[in-house]
Amino acid sequence: AAAARRAVLATAKERGVRWVRLAFVDVLGIQKSVSIPVGELEDAFNGKVTFDGGSIDGFVRGEEVDMVLRPDPATFTVLPWNDDGQTEARILCDIQMPDGTPFEGCARTTLKRVLEDAGDVVQRVQAALEVEYYLFELDAEGAPTTRTTDAGSYFDFSAGDRGQEARLATSIALEAMGIPITSAHHEHGAGQHELDLSAGGVLTMADRLVTVRGVVRRIAQRHGLHATFMPKPLEDSAGSGLHIYFALGEVDEVVRLHAISGLLDHAPAYTAVCNPTVNSYKRLVAAWDAPVYTVWSHRSANALVRVPPSFGGEPPLLEVRSPDASCNPYLAMAVLVEALAEGIRARSLPGDPFTGSTYELSERYRSDHGIKLLPKSLRQAIAALDADLVIRGALGDHIYHAFRDAKLAEYERYRRAVHPWERDAYLRVF
Ligand code: GLU
Ligand code: MG
Ligand code: MG
Repeated sequence: AAAARRAVLATAKERGVRWVRLAFVDVLGIQKSVSIPVGELEDAFNGKVTFDGGSIDGFVRGEEVDMVLRPDPATFTVLPWNDDGQTEARILCDIQMPDGTPFEGCARTTLKRVLEDAGDVVQRVQAALEVEYYLFELDAEGAPTTRTTDAGSYFDFSAGDRGQEARLATSIALEAMGIPITSAHHEHGAGQHELDLSAGGVLTMADRLVTVRGVVRRIAQRHGLHATFMPKPLEDSAGSGLHIYFALGEVDEVVRLHAISGLLDHAPAYTAVCNPTVNSYKRLVAAWDAPVYTVWSHRSANALVRVPPSFGGEPPLLEVRSPDASCNPYLAMAVLVEALAEGIRARSLPGDPFTGSTYELSERYRSDHGIKLLPKSLRQAIAALDADLVIRGALGDHIYHAFRDAKLAEYERYRRAVHPWERDAYLRVF
C-alpha cells in the first residue's frame, strides 16, 4: 500500500497536478467530493481529511460527525480536461468512522465486504458494462430539454452531428483516464448512445461507472448538450439500461447454472437497488427490449439474464439486463454478486433457457415454470427487498434502512404529485 501511495504522489508530480478531488458516493450513488491542494495528498492518505457525515444523504442523521476519507491509490486519475496549468486529479475514497473503523454506510466498503464473503469463485468474477444514455439539447437559458436534433437510430453512422462528436470525445477522455472502451454506438432512440466498457474486477467496474457518469455529463456539456442516464426520459422511445456482464471464468457448467439461478431467484429484491428511481419502472415494461420476467435465454433480447452463445471456446458470459444507471454502482454490484453467490451456495438450478420473446409468456406458462414478474413500481420493489433476507444481508442494516427510508420518501412525493397524465385523462371527463 505504501508503494502504491508513493507511485501516486510521483505521478501527481510528474503530471503537474495542482489539486486533487477526494470523491465518494452517498447512499443513493451521487458523487460527492472535496478538493485539496496536491501538497495535502500525503496527509489525506494518512486519514487526515475528514468531512461532516451528518450532511450527506444516508449517512449519520442529525449529528455532526467527523468521518474520515481513505483515498484508494488504485483509483487515482488525472482529469483529462485541465490543460490550463490548473491540472486536477481525482481519487475515490472509502469512508471510515472517526476511530478508523470502516463505516457501515459506505457503499464502496459494502461491496468489498460482499466480495470478501462471497467465496473464491465469485471473488474472481470479472464484469463488463454497457451503459446507455440520451444526449439532449439545451434551451436558451442553458437548461436541459428533451429535444434532440439527432435523428439517428441503432448503429447509425451519422458523421458530423454533435452527439456523435460528444460520444467520441467521451470515449477518448475515458481512455485517457485508464477506462478502456470496447465500443461505442448510437442506440435505438433518437439522441440515445451507448458506451461499452471492457471487463475488469467488480469493484473496479463500480468505480469506473461512477467516473463514466461524471465524464459523459461533463463532455456533453462542453458540446452544448445535456447527457442523462435517467432510465426513461421519453415515453415513446427506448429507455436507457445498464447491462452488466459477469464472467465466471473456467468453472463447471453447473456452477454457471447455479449463478443464473441465483440471479433469477433474487431479482425481485435486487430490483429496488438496481432500478432505484420512480422512473426506472417506466422502462421495465414489455417494449424496447427491457426485461419484465425472471427468465433466462440464450438469444431473447428481453430476457432478464441472457447468456449469448460464446465463440472460440471462451467461457460464456451472463448478461443481466434489468439494471439502469440511476443506481448506486457499488450497491448494484453488491446485490448482484450476492444473488449470484447465493445461487452457487444453494446449488439451485434455473430450469431450461427460454426461446422467443419473453413478452409473450402466458400466465399459465409462468406459473408452471415458477417465473416471476419484476416489480412494477418502486413501492413494489421495496416490498420485495423487505422480503429477501439474502439481499438485505448484502446491504447491511445501516444501508438497508437508509436506502429504504430515502426511497419510501421519494415514492411518497411521487404518489402525492399530480401528474400531467391525470389532468389529460380526468380534467374534462369529471
Ligand atoms: N435500451 C434497452 C434497455 O432498456 C436495451 C437495448 C439493447 O439491447 O441494447 O435495456
Ligand atoms: Mg444497448
Ligand atoms: Mg446488451
